[in-house]
Amino acid sequence: MSDVQKHIEELRRLLELYNLQYYRDDNPSVPDSEYDRLMNELKKLEAEHPEFYDANSPTQRVGGAVSEGFTKIVHQRNMLSLGNGYNYEDLKQFEDRIISEVGPVEYIVELKMDGLAMSMLYQNGKFVQAVTRGDGVVGEDVTANVRTIRSIPMNIDFKEELDIRGEVYMPRSVFRKLNEERESRGEALFANPRNAAAGSIRQLDSRIAASRGLEAYWYHLPGAEAFVRTHEEALELLEKQGFRVNPLRRKCRNIDEVWAFIQEMAQKRPDLPYDIDGMVIKVNDLAKQQQLGYTVKYPKWAIAYKFPAEEVVTKVVDIFCTVGRTGKVTPNARFVPVEIAQTNVEYATLHNEDYIKSKDIRVNDSVVVHKAGDIIPEVVKVIMERRPENSESYIFPKTCPVCGMPLHRFEDEADTYCINSECPARVVESIAHFASRDAMNIDGLGEKKVEMFHKAGLLNRVENIFELKYCRDEIMQLDKMGSKSFDNLVNAIEEAKKAGLDKVLFGIGIKHIGAKAARVLAQRYKNIDALMQASREELTRIPDVGEVMADSIVTFFEDEQNVKLVESLKKNNVIMLYEDKDSFDSVFTNKTVVLTGGLDHLTRSQAEALLGQLQAKVTGSVSKKTDIVIYGHDAGSKYDKALQLGIQLMDEDAFVSELERLDLLKKS
Ligand code: NAD
Repeated sequence: MSDVQKHIEELRRLLELYNLQYYRDDNPSVPDSEYDRLMNELKKLEAEHPEFYDANSPTQRVGGAVSEGFTKIVHQRNMLSLGNGYNYEDLKQFEDRIISEVGPVEYIVELKMDGLAMSMLYQNGKFVQAVTRGDGVVGEDVTANVRTIRSIPMNIDFKEELDIRGEVYMPRSVFRKLNEERESRGEALFANPRNAAAGSIRQLDSRIAASRGLEAYWYHLPGAEAFVRTHEEALELLEKQGFRVNPLRRKCRNIDEVWAFIQEMAQKRPDLPYDIDGMVIKVNDLAKQQQLGYTVKYPKWAIAYKFPAEEVVTKVVDIFCTVGRTGKVTPNARFVPVEIAQTNVEYATLHNEDYIKSKDIRVNDSVVVHKAGDIIPEVVKVIMERRPENSESYIFPKTCPVCGMPLHRFEDEADTYCINSECPARVVESIAHFASRDAMNIDGLGEKKVEMFHKAGLLNRVENIFELKYCRDEIMQLDKMGSKSFDNLVNAIEEAKKAGLDKVLFGIGIKHIGAKAARVLAQRYKNIDALMQASREELTRIPDVGEVMADSIVTFFEDEQNVKLVESLKKNNVIMLYEDKDSFDSVFTNKTVVLTGGLDHLTRSQAEALLGQLQAKVTGSVSKKTDIVIYGHDAGSKYDKALQLGIQLMDEDAFVSELERLDLLKKS
């Protein structure tokens, strides 16, 4: 047997196996994308080598086997599959072929429901039978189960015999609940709503099917040309007779309009209450449908556009650990790069030691990787049948992969930590985090730069960022940076000082305090000193702050190193106030202010620090450039000069009430 023939045989064997798992057992072992990939490979090989043609090949057959247990019914009209398209070009080709055969046409575009195809027979206005697609020619009689779907009318006002085709599906919410229940009972979970729907409709006990919350949409009326002229009218006829027809459908005049609708629905797809795996494009005119005809497997007047796969199979090339700013050690997988949901995926987090163990993920394993939209890629499962012999379990490291110190796993925690606070990975990560976009947003100070500056001894802790401006020559040499870039970096650092309290709180990396919690705390306390003094009890009273967060905040500020960090940020004029868009309109911001006379409510240096935080420039003498003079008792010549120059004067009481309004001073 030639190599090609062997390969063809192997593909046929695999696809047959997958068909059985999918159609008969409702329990696929590989994602659809993998099935489609193998099917397309087989189609291509069979086309290149017609000498190996076989009428039994999976490429020539629709659907799967018909299982025992149900009465077999021969369909009055075959139930076909649909040709597939994966991109605009495929649809354009579909259109070109149609135009060349019957001229320009209108299309009806529908959602491709991800359920199981069903045929229902109505005679004399009565529901008489429901049959699964089966292998397209012979299906299973599931009448009793389909009857339990409440939305299906049992009697209609139409006496002619009707064969109504549609899709039975399980809404996502029902699927989630069903799997939760199964999990709590220790039963096997359904892979997806489609399998759950198929498994439910093929229950021998219809009480079980009835309990599964199935739904259906109806989308095809074979022989409709006896009553109507277009597919659109056929759908309306079904609607009028009380059948559920998906309202999300559109009439389009050409493939560009079709494509626009596809894009629109791709956006809406995550929010739909049911799964769809594509869109179906059908020629509207029934006479033209007839003219276009059929192949053995599908109608030539329709095509299914399939959305980019969200689950694909790839191979684990490596498992390696990284150390984060808190010292948390995260294992990651590197894959043979694959495209998932239109992005290239090469890495995924494996979370922690237990996660790897529970899925038993090993180097060289073939794995199913899932990614939807913006969601981070995740390993769904290992395909055990493809595991190479002599593969070995992954052993989680005992020492830090960066500093070599022993790792620590706290009791009752899933995560493992490097507890060496000097660990270079922790240092670099925490500085890079401080500079990152969601924190201080320092342009030009990404992780690579931080690592480089750290290696050169310029950045050992967060506060060193503000000393980089003194290292011009060293940095320019180190980074082959031009003088302009260096200035830009220094400017970005200066600019970042104004980021505000919420950004600082997130940036300094208090465990469990994410960007949102940081904002809540900043809004509540307005300045960092107030937060540092807050007790655990007080913190837990804030709606979004739980006990774990409160503990973490208190512990953080108990650490002398962290207090030092705050002090040095203050010294560097990093603003640690929260600018509440509604109330923060300080009269001092960006103003030049002079203090004179004795103050009763606060010391001179306190007053200067607060003005500094409000971005005022405090100077010692009054001149034309002075904007405001704040005076206390016994004010002398400076007061007089301000009067002379017509500069705004403010007494201590007004100053204090302004600080109170900004929540910088507690009301006395
Ligand atoms: P299909 O899913 O590509 O398309 C045809 C089907 O679409 C119809 O039979 C019908 O059930 C459905 N459909 C949904 N909405 C529709 C609408 N509005 N109008 C018309 N039809 C609509 O083809 P198929 O033959 O049902 O299944 C083949 C697919 O099943 C493969 O592409 C693969 O993705 C999947 N499969 C996967 C495995 C596996 O192991 N993972 C095995 C076998 C098949």
